[in-house]
Amino acid sequence: MEKAWQQCINSSCAATYSIDEILPACPTCGNLLDIKYDWNKVEVPSNLNWFEKRWSSRNNPLDYSGVWRFRNFLGFTDDKYVATVGEGQTILQRNDQVGAYAGMNPGSVYLEYEGCNPSGSFKDNGMSGAFTHARMVGARHAVCASTGNTSASLALYAHACDMASTVFIGSGRIAYGKLSQALDYGARTLQVRGNFDDCMKQVQDVARQEKLYLVNSVNPFRLEGQKTIMYRILEGLNWQVPDWIVVPGGNLGNSSAFGKAFAELKELGLIDRIPRLAIIVAQGADTLYELYTKRGLRLNSEDRDAKIKAYYAELDASGYTPDTVATAIEISRPVNLVKCLRALDICDGVVRSVSDEQIIEAKAVVGKYGLGCEPASAATIAGLKQLQAQGIIGNDQRVACVLTGHQLKDPTVTVTYHIETAGIYSNKPIEVDNDLQAIISAMNQ
Ligand SMILES: *Cc1c(COP(=O)(O)O)cnc(C)c1O
Ligand SMILES: [Zn+2]
Repeated sequence: MEKAWQQCINSSCAATYSIDEILPACPTCGNLLDIKYDWNKVEVPSNLNWFEKRWSSRNNPLDYSGVWRFRNFLGFTDDKYVATVGEGQTILQRNDQVGAYAGMNPGSVYLEYEGCNPSGSFKDNGMSGAFTHARMVGARHAVCASTGNTSASLALYAHACDMASTVFIGSGRIAYGKLSQALDYGARTLQVRGNFDDCMKQVQDVARQEKLYLVNSVNPFRLEGQKTIMYRILEGLNWQVPDWIVVPGGNLGNSSAFGKAFAELKELGLIDRIPRLAIIVAQGADTLYELYTKRGLRLNSEDRDAKIKAYYAELDASGYTPDTVATAIEISRPVNLVKCLRALDICDGVVRSVSDEQIIEAKAVVGKYGLGCEPASAATIAGLKQLQAQGIIGNDQRVACVLTGHQLKDPTVTVTYHIETAGIYSNKPIEVDNDLQAIISAMNQ
């Protein structure tokens, strides 16, 4: 048996494929693929604190990377193929004030700032995995559909790997900070007249037909990179397992990766329990909430795939288009839905939905008391507040909230809140005459 291979997640198919194949889905049955490992052929330390020794060799790019520092759990590649631009230098920070906003006790809420990645979002963790695989298979041209951050990250890694890149974005549906990155990093940028779900479908067809390398989160190598966010949270907690992980849900790649990370660590005996997972979606793009929480769909539900299909047909019939201020999660047909159901199963998860008003207010709180984040990321804090109020998350439980993207990604939403709304945390600029006395009196108000 190989050290690593690709395997269909559908247990009644479970077809396996070589790591060297480029497959957006299982050719036999069309389901998503996982990366699997023969753990007997991988060097796995007996204790997670073993990884700390790599801090002392940080002039080695693989040890510097917050993804590849944990390469024992990403054993699908040789070191020589690794694509890294220094991703994963992110921090887990205790934040009592943000915690208090959500009704939590001091010492219980930790924020994982994935906005500190090179392109400003957690996507770099995954892109590092995908581009490593792209280099293994000799790909020359990478493509993705994107609500913004995937394109920014793809463009950055493509130019670092000397590959061509094309990104598909829905017209008018992208935050300016993200668009500016894709353009600046030199990606060919196609503004498709449609929304993200339309782009996603087109890019999959184009990739298949033109044999281009697809880096959306259907790409299982991306999810391997995103597992490392969980390792870093554990590391930030001195390798203690928190009670809850809270994450926003869009295409559901992150939540899927987190479930896989914990299942593997448990299987390897490196953690003794698995934290619970709370996935927070926006009310304007709430497919997962509707299916999981309201209709009770589970990984092992009878006729699961037929039920998903029927729901999508309902959406089509009603002419539904997702709409939320949190553009990064404005997705109604999440490609990783089934993997995400598996993660919810592994982690005894819950799904909640929050309004745009709740997202924007929570975002202002993260800005006022923390390092700031973009709207989608703040859904976690709004979701935590709701789950605390519902008594599902106890106010003394230890919670790690993943803040997925940087504050500067979407300045329009931030400035609009502060200038144009009378929110509790609005902080309007004060216009003053160009006059010393007027300025001093304005400052003293
Ligand atoms: C991509 C993205 C998400 C959604 O993550 P999924 O893995 O698609 O669920 C959330 N927040 C930000 C900032 C993102 O860029
Ligand atoms: Zn299959």
